[in-house]
Amino acid sequence: MPLEGKAFRDLRLKLFNLENKNKPLQGLGYFPQKHSATGTTIFTVMSALAQQYNAINLSQGFPDFHIDPQLSQALGDAARNGFNQYAPMAGLPPLRQAVAANFKKRYGLDIDPENEITITPGATYAIYTAFTSILQAGDEVIVLEPAYDSYIPNIEMNGAKVVPVALTAPGFHVDWNKVKDAITPLTKAIIINTPHNPGGSIWNKKDWDELAGLVRDTDIVIVSDEVYEQLVFDGMKHYSVLEHPELRQRSFAIYSFGKVYNCTGWKIGYCIAPPAFTQAFRRIHQFLSFTVNTPAQHALTYILSNDTAPAIHEVMQKKRDHFLSLMKQIPFTIYEPAKGSYFQIAGYERISDLPDMEFAQWLTKEHGVATIPLSPFYSNKKDDKLIRFCFAKKEETLNEAVERLKRLV
Ligand code: PMP
Ligand code: GLN
Repeated sequence: MPLEGKAFRDLRLKLFNLENKNKPLQGLGYFPQKHSATGTTIFTVMSALAQQYNAINLSQGFPDFHIDPQLSQALGDAARNGFNQYAPMAGLPPLRQAVAANFKKRYGLDIDPENEITITPGATYAIYTAFTSILQAGDEVIVLEPAYDSYIPNIEMNGAKVVPVALTAPGFHVDWNKVKDAITPLTKAIIINTPHNPGGSIWNKKDWDELAGLVRDTDIVIVSDEVYEQLVFDGMKHYSVLEHPELRQRSFAIYSFGKVYNCTGWKIGYCIAPPAFTQAFRRIHQFLSFTVNTPAQHALTYILSNDTAPAIHEVMQKKRDHFLSLMKQIPFTIYEPAKGSYFQIAGYERISDLPDMEFAQWLTKEHGVATIPLSPFYSNKKDDKLIRFCFAKKEETLNEAVERLKRLV
């Protein structure tokens, strides 16, 4: 006769030796540890500290200036015009069509809006969903570090194992021999991020060819986080995985409208992937969020077709250049100007020998400027004594931050 109720529970506890793990229903100890990250994400920690100490917040990556008024107008119009109910699961068809037209215009690529594009509540969600659609317990995923802080927890939450490979610091380029050595028969995926957060580096075509050479004749999937694709400076070009015909067949490419239209708080992005990958992605997506904020999808459709603002890379490059010229007065070491993204890396060895976490906290509390230390972007918390400044800010914000930093001199 099958055991029921308490008897079953008691037997299970005994069999799996769980008696001592049966913690009270309170405190984190009770809940299963789904990933290895301890504590709160560094972006929340540093933004909260900035607020507490009234510091200029150059830590978390978000613009502090207004969005294009056309975009806020379009959002209000959509809500007023009654577009307030669920949008289709894969995203509003006109938005997917506008994304496809935009990729045709900018990259010359043909993307099928029906079968290859899914609108998502942000890029972080799309990365998680891509991982969830491919990973099983025991799989390995190669992560190039420093890495955006959601990747590792997202992989672990799917029961897979992270195989970290360090980028060369401080230039943040890929050492292809290290990647080759990290590949095993269990490797299921590699996550790429170009332009790179936090490093500000970008991949060239040769990098993609190297990757293609390593994954050829394997079933390794590429998850390509390209949220900063439109933030590339000095006339350089972003190479998308979608432009590599061989890799495109095995890739999820992930984007965020937040970084293009300065609306990070809207949390809307999209995933472009071949039809079979898109099907697998939507199998998960339909039961996670199902769909995405409808009025915002209407507004983004409008702006994609009617954008009159200057290209965002020009706006952001001016900010980077302004910030770098101001920083010449302060003894931070700029190894390389950021080639892309919102972020500039700097060394502080001429200012302090504190560990990077302590240095960033000290700078916030004592000098009123919040930044992000780099060690949280490494699984082994490697401390290269580097911090990350976000320059996606108003000129006056950058001026005031550097005025405060001058007290360091
Ligand atoms: N990937 C990287 C590298 C990022 O910096 C960010 C920044 N937020 C994201 C993904 C997430 O984008 P979203 O806000 O659209 O989730
Ligand atoms: N992507 C942003 C950064 O790197 C922050 C996103 C977040 O706060 N999770 O700063």
